[in-house]
Amino acid sequence: MTVSGVGVSPGIGHGPVYVLTVSVPEPPEGATYQGEADQEKAKARAALERVAGELEARGVKAGGEAKDVLGAQALMARDPGLAIGVDALIERGTAAARAVYESFATYRELLVAAGGYLGQRVADLDDVRDRTIAVLTGQPLPGVPTVAAEPYVLVARDLAPADTVLLRKDVVAAFVTEEGGPTSHTAILARAMGVPAVVAARGATRLRPGVRVLVDGGAGTVTVEPSEQQVAEALRVSRIRERALDAAAGPGRTADGHPVPLLANIGGPGDVKAALDSGAEGVGLYRTEFLFLDRTGAPTREEQRDAYRAVLEAFPHGKVVVRTLDAGADKPLAFLPPPSQEPNPALGERGLRMFRAFPDVMAAQLQALSDAAEGISGRLQVMAPMVSTVEEAAWFAHECATMGIESSGVMIEVPAAALRSKDLAAVVDFFSIGTNDLAQYTFAADRQVGGLSALQDPWQPALLDLIAAAVGEHGVPCGVCGEAAADPALACVLVGMGVATLSMAAPALPAVRAGLAGHSLAQCRTAAAAARGQVTAVEARNAARAHLPGLAELGL
Ligand code: PEP
Ligand code: MG
Repeated sequence: MTVSGVGVSPGIGHGPVYVLTVSVPEPPEGATYQGEADQEKAKARAALERVAGELEARGVKAGGEAKDVLGAQALMARDPGLAIGVDALIERGTAAARAVYESFATYRELLVAAGGYLGQRVADLDDVRDRTIAVLTGQPLPGVPTVAAEPYVLVARDLAPADTVLLRKDVVAAFVTEEGGPTSHTAILARAMGVPAVVAARGATRLRPGVRVLVDGGAGTVTVEPSEQQVAEALRVSRIRERALDAAAGPGRTADGHPVPLLANIGGPGDVKAALDSGAEGVGLYRTEFLFLDRTGAPTREEQRDAYRAVLEAFPHGKVVVRTLDAGADKPLAFLPPPSQEPNPALGERGLRMFRAFPDVMAAQLQALSDAAEGISGRLQVMAPMVSTVEEAAWFAHECATMGIESSGVMIEVPAAALRSKDLAAVVDFFSIGTNDLAQYTFAADRQVGGLSALQDPWQPALLDLIAAAVGEHGVPCGVCGEAAADPALACVLVGMGVATLSMAAPALPAVRAGLAGHSLAQCRTAAAAARGQVTAVEARNAARAHLPGLAELGL
């Protein structure tokens, strides 16, 4: 039997299943307390503070990325708005534990409604809530074993950072969760630890504790009771793959030396280390809205300048492509609310449209970018998200030039922009194709709806046609910074179609580098032509791979 999910941290892990069942029951509705309101409020505050302190201490002990993640959770526990909500409920007679439960519920709803990156913070919030209720009601919080005779596969509905940060590779062979997505903390921390992980694996928590499983964190599969042969074969392929990835160092290029700079997608200076460790030659997409997702006020020009400068300095020889705020739809920013109620936020005020609606915010960001590049020539490139027409592109280029920004470009993520790339090329310096949104708008399929994933498959021939239109013959360099660039086979196809640079999440870089190094430019071109000649996504992928024999040999 096999349970399938989404592979978010590559590698093979096998061992007995350990199912984590954290269940702190909901305090009964209408629960009241005996005694004074002030005492009850003090109890609630003390519990929240104890939880915040414990999370912080664990973070300090674990260090690295875990410290930031647990620090953010501690901030949730110390949120002044939350404390006010708890106090108000206690004032009305509600017991502290129930008051905590209800106050967290308000925040929870907001995160769920926001979806995307914020939606995936729900597990972190629930964890803080459950810990606080456990303290208030004197219940123990079930933990995860930190020592084991044999590494186990940790299975849970979702994992909170506090459960995982003190775990080490020699104790956990793999993570499998029912919930979560590629940007959930399970995924982020698993990648940082180098432990294979599969998320969104429906039915995983029904696995019998102790049953042996084989987890493929690349393919996203969990094989139950695999044969010895299956395990040996999976490990053999994985070793070949690891050796291939280690061997492919240096700048991105095809087997015959055609250079393809391999760049990283980042959300802030905190992602720079992982990018450098994976050999990124620069940054192809700096998602600046990620810097400000949890902010209620607009960031200052100085604050922004420092965040941009830090990244420019970290890549002294590579280019850094910064995207101006892509607020709205799946990335709502509290300080940039859409001007009107929108029934379809993805089709409403977002990206460049939102930026135009808030000229002060735009001026501050462009000025901060210009300040950050002072004394550094030729490395900063600034691009706008969600550009649809040549007027928008020309307007953005003009605004950048006014601020002294040397190189301005646009993302191609709306079909209209891809179809008229020639017109846009006349007014900007470069393009970067955002295949995530381009797929969403091409197939009218919301990227946040998991059930529509077949329509967001970047191998869809219609999407390949639009990419070809965007690359065009207009002489403006065109990169790809959507998820498509992270698939080693599709990366070769994109290069075969004339894409100049590829940008992706840091963990994907080694496999793409190895895939490119294993094929000539001519092979990439043949693979691209073969893919575009098909009528379905599956056929396009199979046809391309048939012309890229090196991928299977490398275990990719
Ligand atoms: C894209 O749409 O492909 C892209 C890279 O931008 P984002 O995922 O941030 O919308
Ligand atoms: Mg996009």
